[in-house]
Amino acid sequence: MTQSPARIKIAIQKSGRLTELCLELLQQCGLKYSRGRDQLIGFGENMPVDFLLVRDDDIPGLVKDDVCDLGICGMNVLEEKRLEYAAAGDDAPFKMLQPLDFGHCRLAFAYPEDGDLQAITDIDGQTIATSYPLIVEDYLKRNQLNGQVIEFSGAVEIAPNLGRAELICDLVSTGGTLAANRLVEGETILESRACLVQTPIDIPAEKTEWVNRLVERIAGVQQVRGSKYIMMHAPRSALAAIHELLPGAESPTVLPLDEVNDKVAVHVVCRENVFWETLEDLKRKGASSILVLPIEKMLA
Ligand code: ATP
Ligand code: ZN
Repeated sequence: MTQSPARIKIAIQKSGRLTELCLELLQQCGLKYSRGRDQLIGFGENMPVDFLLVRDDDIPGLVKDDVCDLGICGMNVLEEKRLEYAAAGDDAPFKMLQPLDFGHCRLAFAYPEDGDLQAITDIDGQTIATSYPLIVEDYLKRNQLNGQVIEFSGAVEIAPNLGRAELICDLVSTGGTLAANRLVEGETILESRACLVQTPIDIPAEKTEWVNRLVERIAGVQQVRGSKYIMMHAPRSALAAIHELLPGAESPTVLPLDEVNDKVAVHVVCRENVFWETLEDLKRKGASSILVLPIEKMLA
């Protein structure tokens, strides 16, 4: 009897901003899954990969303790936990594998619109409300600033109105929540996005193949999402100029066109998104019949 391979586990957020994006990423890696009745586990049907749905704050710990081989969560959460573990003497609680293309936000200070405080250098002794006390304390220490940090686990933006703090440090993406609470965004202390992490413990041999395959597929999906396949006709003499215009292009494939001597077909993979302006520039250099196609899969 052949032994079935050991199953690998990946921790993702149960219900929040990253949930759908993580599930979509796993699906694009080819994972077909069914959800357990309690909805807390997803069972991979076509790969030995299961996922655990948990609060994002629990993901670093599950990966650190090797309950899960991999995890996806915001760098903001990872950094706060990293500082917590470092204070307890653990300097390498997880391996950061790869930043992902979603969950973009920044951890920034924000000041009441009508207050006197406008810059972090002026905080002298004032109180900052935040859900990321260790990151903020670390920032204050590194910048030799004297402020008092109080932890709020949610709705940080109402702290100044409640009279609990003079300023806040919170996650911002569009700035809408700050404006609605009459706060003005100040200095950013951390640029964040979702990130793939791996347990610090060596992956046992029976799991390495699938951990590596999943990590490689995630990298492939990330590359593909930012890439485009471009085809066009162009005068041979414009090839160098065209290559220069294409963002992140590798060497193009140049093919002769039937019965046309001075023009060729150019096919190229661009590792960045291609904007209308680029297409207009290409046309100005003599390119025609320009097609931009999405790429479904790519294996480096
Ligand atoms: P949980 O119940 O899992 O603890 P949560 O309320 O802590 O959920 P969400 O608000 O769903 O978390 O955010 C998850 C992650 O999404 C954040 O940690 C952050 O990395 C990212 N994110 C992106 N944009 C924002 C934003 N505008 N505000 C907050 N988080 C954002
Ligand atoms: Zn959380």
